[in-house]
Amino acid sequence: MRDGTGRIIDYMRISITDRCNLRCRYCMPDGIQSLPRREILTLEEMEAVAACGARLGIRHIKITGGEPLVRKDCCDLVKRIRKIPGIETVTITTNGILLADNLDRLAEAGIDGINISLDTLDPDRYRELTGGGEIGRVLEGLDLAAAAHIPAKINAVSLDLGEQNWKDLLELGRERPVDVRFIEMMPIGCGKNFPSLDHRVLLKQMEACYPGMEKDGRRHGFGPAVYYKIPGFKGSVGFISAIHGKFCSSCNRIRLTAQGYLKTCLCYSAGTDLRKILRADIPDPAEKERRLEAAMEEAVRNKPQAHCFERPEEITEEENMIRIGG
Ligand code: SAM
Ligand code: SF4
Repeated sequence: MRDGTGRIIDYMRISITDRCNLRCRYCMPDGIQSLPRREILTLEEMEAVAACGARLGIRHIKITGGEPLVRKDCCDLVKRIRKIPGIETVTITTNGILLADNLDRLAEAGIDGINISLDTLDPDRYRELTGGGEIGRVLEGLDLAAAAHIPAKINAVSLDLGEQNWKDLLELGRERPVDVRFIEMMPIGCGKNFPSLDHRVLLKQMEACYPGMEKDGRRHGFGPAVYYKIPGFKGSVGFISAIHGKFCSSCNRIRLTAQGYLKTCLCYSAGTDLRKILRADIPDPAEKERRLEAAMEEAVRNKPQAHCFERPEEITEEENMIRIGG
């Protein structure tokens, strides 16, 4: 499927819940209300949107949240979406707390990759940043994923926590074949209160500490990360630089919120309410599919050309990341 500017849209993130077992301060601090369950799409409704996306050219799906693994039917959904004709990869992004408990089921469901969000390796700082998370469980999940040969990546938002913090994270990729990716904090929801490190500066600091860092041109996934190799490391280091490395001209993605709203850009509220169609009284299933497809195609045609994070007054997205899924 192509948008109005000719970009190929083949990647969809599906947020399957707005609930979470952590309280990351920049995403879902204490006090944020969860939606009533009836507002959240059912497994069948999400599968229907994924199937519709696949007919229109979506090839890669990322399951996200809230925390996707707090939803009991998460692994079933992965399994069902993995079987949809046209879908080539299904991956998940998780805080990792419930990963060890779910790894076998995810593997059995055919998961193609796991992104684990981890902003620090310091157990006290982790507890503080996440509102009580125990890092040991996350690291256990990471090691089990590696042992099961499921490709795993670490995602860390680039908070200004000092040089030792990013070095500790980078070192995860020395002996393990995991990519460690740094993500510039976006001024969305509570993220507005946490200034991001500038990745141009971060890269210079890393190059000074790790001589011989070189651009890694191999394909690592389907997103906008730019990768580097560090001599002697099994994994690569990646940068997702939404603010200081605008990558909108190659954007390939759309997002489905847990309430069934199809978002076409992180920065804007632009999109379309698919839940309205999913729950409309349309007796003919083929007619419902046609309407879903038409709504998705129209939203994609009108996908904004670029984000405006550098002009925060123009951001129209008012939701927190917990409702969008990153
Ligand atoms: N709970 C899962 C997790 O933590 O991976 C999935 C949902 S979480 C919203 C997805 C990703 O969004 C996490 O890596 C999180 O750090 C990131 N995130 C949250 N708020 C952000 C912001 N304002 N800017 C950039 N990334 C953000
Ligand atoms: Fe939960 Fe992920 Fe948001 Fe942290 S970043 S509060 S783990 S959804």
